Amino acid sequence: MAARILDGTKIASEIRAEVAAEVRALAEAGMRPGLAVVLVGHNPASEIYVRGKVKSSEEVGLYSEKHTPPETATTDELLALVEDLNRRDEIDGILVQLPLPPQVDSKKVLLAVDPAKDVDGFHPMNVGFLSTQRPGLVPCTPGGVMEMLRRCGIAVAGKDAVVVGRSDIVGKPMAMLLINANATVTVCHSKTHDLPAVCRRADILVAAIGRAGMITPDFVKPGATVIDVGMNKITARADFERFFKGNEKREQAFAKNGSTLVGDVHPEVAEVAGALTPVPGGVGPLTIAMLMSNTMRAAKLRRRSAVAIG
Ligand code: NAP
Repeated sequence: MAARILDGTKIASEIRAEVAAEVRALAEAGMRPGLAVVLVGHNPASEIYVRGKVKSSEEVGLYSEKHTPPETATTDELLALVEDLNRRDEIDGILVQLPLPPQVDSKKVLLAVDPAKDVDGFHPMNVGFLSTQRPGLVPCTPGGVMEMLRRCGIAVAGKDAVVVGRSDIVGKPMAMLLINANATVTVCHSKTHDLPAVCRRADILVAAIGRAGMITPDFVKPGATVIDVGMNKITARADFERFFKGNEKREQAFAKNGSTLVGDVHPEVAEVAGALTPVPGGVGPLTIAMLMSNTMRAAKLRRRSAVAIG
């Protein structure tokens, strides 16, 4: 039986509508949460992501501003910018788009962001809050996965969850969120022995690897929920055939654009899994929606004393 497809686009639009309603309620209290995005240089992928973030902010009614220091920016210049954003009361969220140019000490810049405004949830203080289950800001992608599981009615407590990938941005916070939700969690990486066998134990399998279609049906327990975080652009005809042979809709898009997106999960997994997130249209849209939600959350946590908000 084909897997249930978990529609991230629909859930993301629900989350954005909820944030928009909260923004309107705050506006009545004379407040407009603000997001500052810092985009250094001209990385084409980063420019696309930042455009999406700014557009989404405008759609939900958040104030947003974009800072675009040149490719040659130094660590000190970026630290000065972050300090200024930290000081400004109308800015609730600060997002420094990664990667930063090689001459910049990225860790130092991220560490300088006020943890109360760290809407990416990357600051060590927020990492600590997450691991000790205190209120804080959670990284958007794994936070979005938890929202998807919750809103799709997929139980987590008591389940065996396997996370493939241990990055600070996705894998590790994903594992922590699943632990906090009472799953029994295994984290895998490039040194894991017999990865397919470990993955086959999962009731919930999260793939955050960055390798096109690596999770094939033999990695998946029949009926499992499979969350595909991966976003890999393929341009070679041979790769296209490997993943999407006979898929007419994809064929048209590939012919038009010369590329298409594939996750870390092979599309054939849909024949084994009980539920599956598509790529595109799964975890991706949720990441930006959670950024909106985190900006609202940051505003509420930081300004709680100024206005009576829940
Ligand atoms: P990353 O920092 O490169 O981490 C990849 C992880 O996968 C590492 O822990 C690595 O293990 C592990 N890995 C690599 N090859 C493996 C193999 N053959 N077997 C087992 N594990 C392997 O990547 P990331 O930033 O976490 O991102 C992962 C994917 O998610 C990428 O495709 C990225 O584009 C995508 N992503 C999507 C969104 C979204 O909004 N949908 C957001 C963020 C990221 P080691 O630690 O041992 O090297």
